[in-house]
Amino acid sequence: MPLEETPMSLVSHSSTAPTQCPQCVQMQTIQDRYWTRQGMKMILWVLLLLILVVGWFVPAWGFILLGCMAAAVGVAFFRGRAWCDVCPRGAFFDVLMHRMSQGRPIPRFLRSPAFRLLMLAVLMTVMVVRLTPVWGDLPKMGMVFWMILAVTTVVGVILAIPFNARTWCALCPMGSMAYWIGRGKQPLAVDREQCNACGRCARVCPMELYPGAHREEGVMTHGDCLKCSSCVVACPRQALSFEKVPHSDEPDCVAVNQSEAS
Ligand code: SF4
Ligand code: SF4
Repeated sequence: MPLEETPMSLVSHSSTAPTQCPQCVQMQTIQDRYWTRQGMKMILWVLLLLILVVGWFVPAWGFILLGCMAAAVGVAFFRGRAWCDVCPRGAFFDVLMHRMSQGRPIPRFLRSPAFRLLMLAVLMTVMVVRLTPVWGDLPKMGMVFWMILAVTTVVGVILAIPFNARTWCALCPMGSMAYWIGRGKQPLAVDREQCNACGRCARVCPMELYPGAHREEGVMTHGDCLKCSSCVVACPRQALSFEKVPHSDEPDCVAVNQSEAS
């Protein structure tokens, strides 16, 4: 994820605040959680490399992929694609591949429902064909999962260099399942009074979404939202929230921050 593009205006917001109003406290909590997750990602991407290296010698490590697949789908019932934000491979794309990526937009056909269905069908077919003959032999089954992880990671790296670092996440079969299951779960509130369509949220979104475009509806329910809060932290007008921070009866500290941002 584009860490270096994340503006710090809201960090300075709390330092310029004369008092800790409820909005400031809530925003500080959001920022704390956000930076905690960024710290976790600095460790999680190493886990992906560890699984790939150790899994070659200890195939049982391949079952970690099965755990990640189950987590992506399980979390989707409650929080959409939130798991994908901290998935070790997603962290790998955010932390490492983001630095090498040329960042061109994800080709539209790659994120089309038809292509995503095709990817899911291919994954399921490969799993059935490769697992059936080795069923019950845990090391060999683990090696099948390791192989799927290795191949899809190589594809993800190839896609990440010319395009957005998270291009793979737009067509990942498990991400697509989470997309279909979790659409509308924990939507992102967009305050139409606050949003001035500056576009900053779109520039930091790892999935190339534009929350500000939804200011008229007041909510963004896109199934590909990772709930990463990059846009929430980046928005200079505090127009975005997963918790619906109220903006009525603004205290002085909010007004100060907005005048700085405009
Ligand atoms: S960064 Fe904030 S103000 Fe700018 S377009 Fe996005 S939601 Fe609107
Ligand atoms: S819309 Fe915001 S929370 Fe959702 S993926 Fe993009 S930056 Fe993250």
